[in-house]
Amino acid sequence: MAIDKAPRGPRSRARIVRWIVLATVLTAITVIGYLHQVLAVNKPQGVDALCPFGGLETLASFITSGVLIRKIAMSSLVLLGAVLGTAVVFRRSFCGQLCPLGTLQEGFGAIGRKLMRGKRLTMSKSLDRVARLFKYGVLLGFLSITWATSTLVMRSYDPWVAYMHLTTAEVAEYAFGFGVLAVSMAGSMLYDRFFCKYACPMGAFLGLISRFSLFRIRRNAETCIDCTLCDKACPVNIEVSSADVINSAECINCNECVNACPVKDTLEISTSGGTRLSPVAMTGSVVAIFAAAILLGSITGDFSITKPTLAQESGSAAGQGNGGGEGSFLDTGLIRGSTRWNEITEATGIPAETITDIFGIPADDQSRALKDSTELYSVSPGEARAWVDLWQTDRTAAENYVPGTLLSEDHEE
Ligand code: SF4
Ligand code: SF4
Repeated sequence: MAIDKAPRGPRSRARIVRWIVLATVLTAITVIGYLHQVLAVNKPQGVDALCPFGGLETLASFITSGVLIRKIAMSSLVLLGAVLGTAVVFRRSFCGQLCPLGTLQEGFGAIGRKLMRGKRLTMSKSLDRVARLFKYGVLLGFLSITWATSTLVMRSYDPWVAYMHLTTAEVAEYAFGFGVLAVSMAGSMLYDRFFCKYACPMGAFLGLISRFSLFRIRRNAETCIDCTLCDKACPVNIEVSSADVINSAECINCNECVNACPVKDTLEISTSGGTRLSPVAMTGSVVAIFAAAILLGSITGDFSITKPTLAQESGSAAGQGNGGGEGSFLDTGLIRGSTRWNEITEATGIPAETITDIFGIPADDQSRALKDSTELYSVSPGEARAWVDLWQTDRTAAENYVPGTLLSEDHEE
């Protein structure tokens, strides 16, 4: 069934501010994802290390053993803290005010609305109610397996991971995620916030927390004229016009209902004690909470946009000054497909000339990632890792090593 959506409401300034924030976050994270694919030096962190859900995925491992699961950095935990901070105060405001995947869905939703002349599709209420439970299954399923195995099992299915690898040469690796991304965007052209409503585990998690949040949207029934513009404006189909307080875990705190309401002060963002905020002030507060968490994380060294080098990772894994160079012992489990040869030199003190002598890789080509050396120099990341192990335990054997004789399972990133 198709329904008409609300026309633009009286608070277009709040809408513009929200859209500027959403577009800025989406642009910034897209650029970071692109630079992660193309830069060799000062490379930004990968998508997993800059995703608050990554913080949730690594939480069990971090709490029980102090170790982050592979591909996750402390930055994810800082972002998780920021999201939790916004959720405690403003419910699912991360979804409605910041989330870049939400912004993409709203963009595709706008295209769908243009094509369908302002109309949107709705599901039958019973089917919709059941379908919305799916995201809780996604949360429970992926989180319990991730916590039990300390592996990012959701990665291959994650549409956001796929989006952040749009420019990678290894598209096939993210094929399933691209499929989920395509279905989510096509779905959003017909149904607002399709992925948020039915499949997002982060949204499901924040929905559970939102039960305890401070601010909610409240309706003043005395001044309400029952025009139902708020219902039509709501992307997640909440019947705002018949509620006194929006308690639904589905509310993404986009404030579109407040912005659409034609009667002043009839819909407001407030606490049970009567503290009120305008939609613009709420957007500003959400941004401020996020900025404060990132600033604090940067000061303590727990948040970094840039990927640490192998020597830095090795130093922090050892918990003290094992920061690389001759005599440093490197945990070779930190060597990945994306590690560069010159990072190995920096972290272990293995001379560049030795790498040239053994594997035939010229010194000026050692800024190449291990995974990119496989085809050119016939040395896989697994062999490189095994050889570094040998160097650290039997220097003479490593110096006389014959390439191709030490093979171990590859470890790509
Ligand atoms: S109830 Fe209002 S704030 Fe919540 S999702 Fe709907 S329009 Fe957005
Ligand atoms: S709350 Fe506002 S938008 Fe919703 S029905 Fe009442 S007057 Fe209309």
